[in-house]
Amino acid sequence: MAGYDYDLFVIGGGSGGVRAARVAAALGKRVGIAEEYRFGGTCVIRGCVPKKLYVYASQFPEHFADAAGYGWTVPEASFDWRTLVANKDREISRLEAIYKKNVEGAGGEAFHSRAMIVDPHVIHLLGEDRTVTADQILIATGGRPAAHPALPGHEHCIFSNEAFDLKELPKAIMIEGGGYIAVEFANIFHGLGVDTTLVYRGKEILSRFDMDLRRTLHETMEKKGIKILCHAVSEEVRKRPDGRLDAVLTSGQTLTVDQVMLAIGRIPNTENMGLEGIGIEMTPAGAVKVDDYSRTNIDNIWAIGDVTNRVQLTPVAIHEAMCFVETAFKSNPTAPDHETIATAVFSQPEIGTVGLSEDEAVKRFADIEIYRASFRPMRHTLSGRDEKMLIKLVVDGASRKVLGAHILGPDAGEMAQLLGIPLKAGLTKDDFDRTMAVHPTAAEELVTMYKPTYRVKDGQRV
Ligand SMILES: Cc1cc2nc3c(=O)[nH]c(=O)nc-3n(C[C@H](O)[C@H](O)[C@H](O)COP(=O)(O)OP(=O)(O)OC[C@H]3O[C@@H](n4cnc5c(N)ncnc54)[C@H](O)[C@@H]3O)c2cc1C
Repeated sequence: MAGYDYDLFVIGGGSGGVRAARVAAALGKRVGIAEEYRFGGTCVIRGCVPKKLYVYASQFPEHFADAAGYGWTVPEASFDWRTLVANKDREISRLEAIYKKNVEGAGGEAFHSRAMIVDPHVIHLLGEDRTVTADQILIATGGRPAAHPALPGHEHCIFSNEAFDLKELPKAIMIEGGGYIAVEFANIFHGLGVDTTLVYRGKEILSRFDMDLRRTLHETMEKKGIKILCHAVSEEVRKRPDGRLDAVLTSGQTLTVDQVMLAIGRIPNTENMGLEGIGIEMTPAGAVKVDDYSRTNIDNIWAIGDVTNRVQLTPVAIHEAMCFVETAFKSNPTAPDHETIATAVFSQPEIGTVGLSEDEAVKRFADIEIYRASFRPMRHTLSGRDEKMLIKLVVDGASRKVLGAHILGPDAGEMAQLLGIPLKAGLTKDDFDRTMAVHPTAAEELVTMYKPTYRVKDGQRV
């Protein structure tokens, strides 16, 4: 090891890379890390963090409207997009500095440079025009929005990266995609007053979530005024003489909007990094192929996070980083655990979910009990807002184990985090029933649904 410049060199200063670099450096390892854009990566710079700030911004009009039922008179409010963007920029710059400082504080060396691997132990730092050597190399280069070069007029479209920093708030936007990024941005833009249309090729938005949540969210978004067109994709995007865009859809409609945002998936950052040259195996989707311990086919090269295309979430990248450090530097081989991951969609209303959807559970278990409550949350009684909350538990009738918990409504993401613990622990519906309710809350429904709403036996609802 002493013959190399570093014990570990990390490529990519995002959620996974920074965590691995910091923890390995804190163990006394000689660590270098290269980031070509901004430390903090997708999550901090153009993902989770700015997204959540924009979600908060977009919720104020509903808060103002709801206040009337509680006796408040709110004067006419106005919104300034540029103020939001500038304040967001200040906050992410603060976080960016902390991320870099944390690596350096632990003893790591941070480089602002693109990096590529030229030999299994040699990294070229393009920004510095020099090479360094390392015993172990970790690829943590994340992913980026999938482009759509086959779409005529694709050059007029934006992606989530640009959506955060538009010079002007558009009057009308079309967002193409049905995943959580598309759905979240549709709610953000709508909340900020933009005429918003979501266009999705599938039959229902959010394909990997419980159907109940998907349908109820769809209906609620439409009730708010978001237009959702399923079974449609854009065929062409044309620039009009007035500078606006005509998006021609397969459904025969043409939408005239100011921006077209494509959120049709993300692809791993693996190109032009020397990976093919040294023979790193890739998956058909262009991700770095790794074993259960995040090791590539080359013994001293590892990969974690979105670049491996396993589960594309920040906590997963961080968990994989921690497992990598255990395996590579603490003689404690630890495989990341990708089972029962709690997650949220910051739509409005929010989704919080963990475990199996009803459809998945029915495929795997012969006797499923569904506990379901749909009700108006208490805060909407005086506000008069016509919005339902949905809480649903999916239980294995044989073992009584709670297989899935699904929530649509205020603070669902926070609830999903807490529900992740009993589901991970494999607790049963009886454990839920034994738990005292917290009153008055919406979450109390989770422990007070004593009788199944329905059962599904051998695939048949009874
Ligand atoms: C709009 C949006 C919203 C999201 N919201 C959420 C959310 O709410 N919750 C959640 O859990 N996840 C969310 N995610 C996903 C989350 O951001 C990613 O899963 C996470 O950032 C992955 O971390 P990573 O370390 O694998 O990669 P990244 O964070 O993408 O970091 C990779 C870094 O590598 C750098 N890099 C790439 N190539 C090179 C190179 N050759 N040399 C040097 N540097 C390089 C990149 O510039 C980047 O900074 C969101 C993503 C997006 C796009």
